[in-house]
Amino acid sequence: MASPDTAPLPSMPRLVRILPRSVAPFPRETLASYFRRLELANGLTTDRTGTSLGIAQGDDPLTLLRALTGRTEASLRFALPELDAPQHRSAPVLDDEPMRHHLACTHCCYRAGIGEHVRRWVVHEDVLCRCHRRWLGSPEEETTDQLDLTGHPEVLDAHRRHRRLIARRGRRTIRDTYLTSARIVWDWQCQGRRLASVTARLDRLREGRSCTYLDPAVHAALYPAAVALTDLLTSPAWQPAPVDTDHPHTRRFLHRVAETVTDGYYPTGGQDPLRRLLHNAASMPQRDAH
Ligand SMILES: [Zn+2]
Repeated sequence: MASPDTAPLPSMPRLVRILPRSVAPFPRETLASYFRRLELANGLTTDRTGTSLGIAQGDDPLTLLRALTGRTEASLRFALPELDAPQHRSAPVLDDEPMRHHLACTHCCYRAGIGEHVRRWVVHEDVLCRCHRRWLGSPEEETTDQLDLTGHPEVLDAHRRHRRLIARRGRRTIRDTYLTSARIVWDWQCQGRRLASVTARLDRLREGRSCTYLDPAVHAALYPAAVALTDLLTSPAWQPAPVDTDHPHTRRFLHRVAETVTDGYYPTGGQDPLRRLLHNAASMPQRDAH
């Protein structure tokens, strides 16, 4: 019996010729990005939909890409997650997390011999390239200016911790709590609670520029504190999560936050974003069942 890679191509809706120049797909590349690079390599009009390649709405992109590029089904499916999605061209899902896409590390692209921008599918922890020490963007923002993290080993350490948390406590729990934690850390900054480590890191990363919440330097700067808070909020040692802010359990929790997250700041006052979260138990992220 023929393997998928040696099986004859299914019948084509029309004559499809192999392209003069084929390019390899980048790992987790979006179909639109791959279409564009194929079009560029062959001097065709780029529209990201595959129209210039002869791919029409309703066509099976896997069958046509096999014919156009001469590449195996396995290699295309491995690199292009949309080809395995229930509906081609819809966002793929990893462990219940819908994936988003952003620019791939430009240094990884250069290493693969790719000079153009590549868009690839990512999950929430894909914020940096460990190999090249570049900040690539958080789930809430995207950057074309990939920040150099040389000199910021604490950001790389936080990324390692982030991935460990996902492995131990579940992707959905950590994703939801991380997004909440990142917002809390930023609110502390905006409220003048200036966490010394976050402020110092942001000053070095922004190099004199002013920043809004969407600036990649902001997310890179607050990332270690957001991961540390995520760890505490999901820690089995602190479950059930503190709710009553006057309870001794909660005070111990807030002291722990001051020691390990906020550089000594003890969350205080009704406007404190963490205390507001603790007050409103209903706003706590749902935990995965483990
Ligand atoms: Zn890289």
